[in-house]
Amino acid sequence: MNNVFDSEDIRVLRNSVREFGEKYLAPVAVRIDRENIVPDDVIRAAAEMGYFALRVPEKYGGPGLSTLESAVVVEELARYSSAVSIMATVSGTMVAYPLVHYANDELKREYLERLANGEIGAFALTEPCCGTDAAAVTTRAVLDGDEWVINGRKTFITNSPYASFFLVAARTGKPEDRHRGVSLFVVDKSDCIEVSKLEMMGYRGSGTSEVVFEGCRVPKQNLVGEVNKGFKIVMDALNEGRIITAATGLGVMQAAFDEALNYAKQRESMGKPLVEHQMVQYMLAEMKLRLEAARTLIYTAAVKVDNGDDDYPMWSSIAKLAAAKWGVDLVRMAMQVLGGIGYSKESPVERHYRDIKMIEIGDGTNEVQRMVIVKALLGKVRAPRR
Ligand SMILES: Cc1cc2nc3c(=O)[nH]c(=O)nc-3n(C[C@H](O)[C@H](O)[C@H](O)COP(=O)(O)OP(=O)(O)OC[C@H]3O[C@@H](n4cnc5c(N)ncnc54)[C@H](O)[C@@H]3O)c2cc1C
Repeated sequence: MNNVFDSEDIRVLRNSVREFGEKYLAPVAVRIDRENIVPDDVIRAAAEMGYFALRVPEKYGGPGLSTLESAVVVEELARYSSAVSIMATVSGTMVAYPLVHYANDELKREYLERLANGEIGAFALTEPCCGTDAAAVTTRAVLDGDEWVINGRKTFITNSPYASFFLVAARTGKPEDRHRGVSLFVVDKSDCIEVSKLEMMGYRGSGTSEVVFEGCRVPKQNLVGEVNKGFKIVMDALNEGRIITAATGLGVMQAAFDEALNYAKQRESMGKPLVEHQMVQYMLAEMKLRLEAARTLIYTAAVKVDNGDDDYPMWSSIAKLAAAKWGVDLVRMAMQVLGGIGYSKESPVERHYRDIKMIEIGDGTNEVQRMVIVKALLGKVRAPRR
């Protein structure tokens, strides 16, 4: 494959992830999906590669990847296992990125080094009451002496059973303060946290869970940024994270496309391979169009983050929306090309079909991406000033 974004360094990185995927993920991808858990040895191997610390700078022992490089890593991981790919997305970017940009030096030293050493972080924003309406979070943090005491319930939190710490958005102001009353905390896994794994349709194995915080005490300095200023940090994390989430969808799209193309070359109908039938050719062309268009938008958005362009939040939402919409279309067509076998558990496309739908929901739904795009067009969304 050739695209204008692939420098020699990116090609080397891509190939190294492919080698990892062939060795560690391909043999267990079906099991991960069926049993809803990633085996310990796979987690250890992924941690050793630095996949749970993608954005952690080298000075803290991390790989120090750019947004584009991180996108390429999770894309390649997702071709083999969507679960490991989204785990890397959350820990390596959505947890690491806000710590890099907003945490105090002490927090950075401890938690970035822990990620670099292979620990996994989780990003706890969504609650049973509110996902899209994140400014309404009800989890509370109250200062008691030198400690914050945190109580509340989060849901759909990726990585929870594997995580050794959580980045938690909690209310420190009044409910009517909305986004101006939200702060962000690092909370270590301990007895005050109860994790209940959920049975999700796709991205199975990534540990999506309900998480209850009951009287969790954290030191005062575990506040990330300033009191009541956490919402901006969360939005900043999502603006980048969306591109990486879109890239996991891109990997699923690529895997489904490859399956469909191979099948169309081998399967015969009415005396010739499927690929020679015009209506199948139409589907393959439409799939390739969506695949490369999504790839181009995702990489463009990633480069915009890396360049610090002011309009990257809009491009992040454009890329996420494109990968979600076109991804669902593409995998539906891939299943159509495979016919009955595509609808059976014998084909990986059945898993890809369940996986790709997540991209329309997680990290902001399609509706949210449309809102961000229009807000940006009206000049109400810009890259953060740090
Ligand atoms: C597999 C998976 C992993 C996830 N991982 C994480 C994680 O690690 N951390 C985390 O914090 N969250 C996580 N989430 C949660 C995810 O971000 C939310 O599910 C998502 O933001 C939608 O929120 P919701 O489910 O509460 O839906 P709701 O907000 O209730 O929305 C329901 C529907 O209404 C629409 N809607 C809502 N408000 C509006 C509006 N104002 N205008 C127009 N339409 C609207 C939505 O677009 C959607 O179609 C995960 C979700 C999934 C499925």
